[in-house]
Amino acid sequence: MEKKLQNIEKDNQNKTVGDLNVIDIKPRGYCKGVIRSLRLLKNIREKYPDETISVLGRIVHNRYVAEAMDLYSIITVDYPGLTREQLLSYVDHGIVILSAHGCSDMVKDKAKAKGLTVIDAACPDVISSHKIIEDALKKNEQVIFIGKSKHPETEAVMQNFKNINLITNISDVNKLKIDPFEKIVIANQTTLSSLDMRNLIEAIIKKYPNAKVIDEVCGATRVRQEAVIKNSNLDALIVVGDPDSNNTAMLAKIALDSGIKNVQRIETVQDLDLTKFHKNDFVGITSGASTPPYLTDMVSDYLKQINLAAPMPKPEIDISKILDL
Ligand code: SF4
Repeated sequence: MEKKLQNIEKDNQNKTVGDLNVIDIKPRGYCKGVIRSLRLLKNIREKYPDETISVLGRIVHNRYVAEAMDLYSIITVDYPGLTREQLLSYVDHGIVILSAHGCSDMVKDKAKAKGLTVIDAACPDVISSHKIIEDALKKNEQVIFIGKSKHPETEAVMQNFKNINLITNISDVNKLKIDPFEKIVIANQTTLSSLDMRNLIEAIIKKYPNAKVIDEVCGATRVRQEAVIKNSNLDALIVVGDPDSNNTAMLAKIALDSGIKNVQRIETVQDLDLTKFHKNDFVGITSGASTPPYLTDMVSDYLKQINLAAPMPKPEIDISKILDL
């Protein structure tokens, strides 16, 4: 046990009173982009108390955040599988807020043409990623973009820049037909995992050895992933986040790839599988950048007190606390 404690990040150790050694992995949870967009949302409601306010897609990938916005009478326009442009057809008046993932100029123009007041809550890191691609294209460089198809960030990039090459998997690399003598830049969706991109980047570089890699995994995503890697000798890791959150998925994947046996990806404390814990296990708690701290703290507080032989009932979610920053 001593060896384990030495290896686990000292800052993250916590005294617990229950059967488990609970480690609050730091940093975790809301990133600056998410905090900024949620503050913006609250401010807009305060400034325009009687106006209809809609968010195109989920402001962040967390359904509890979308539900909590009902309390502020803010409508989330979100139908699975629809693009931002298609979602726009459901909004015909008032203020429309565009999410932290970024939105294409075409969607913004269409929203303005409908007479909507457009508020762009795009994260500065996403905006800077668009700028890098724009600059490369201005210099007549070829751009290869690694992203997840149907993710709103990738959707916006592909709509803004028609002549770039999207790579979502290895077979896309085989299909690339860029002249190897052209200048090539490799950019990427900000919330991917560096580990996950490695294979794709290696395959691209094998085909185009002179391609320049611009690793645009954002700082918030990177440090949350590194914190999991540093704590890879844990017995278990709980990753709190929405099933649709890409950076949450990446944290769980990195934990599994790092050799942690019991990795549980859950939305709330209610989803915890207690049968997988053993007395004195070292259990880390982390969460994606779009997960409300309230939901993560609930899991941590519950596990810190747990008696595995007679666990207390899991607490209910109080939706009014979801938007607490
Ligand atoms: S995860 Fe990164 S890119 Fe996405 S909103 Fe947060 S800081 Fe911005």
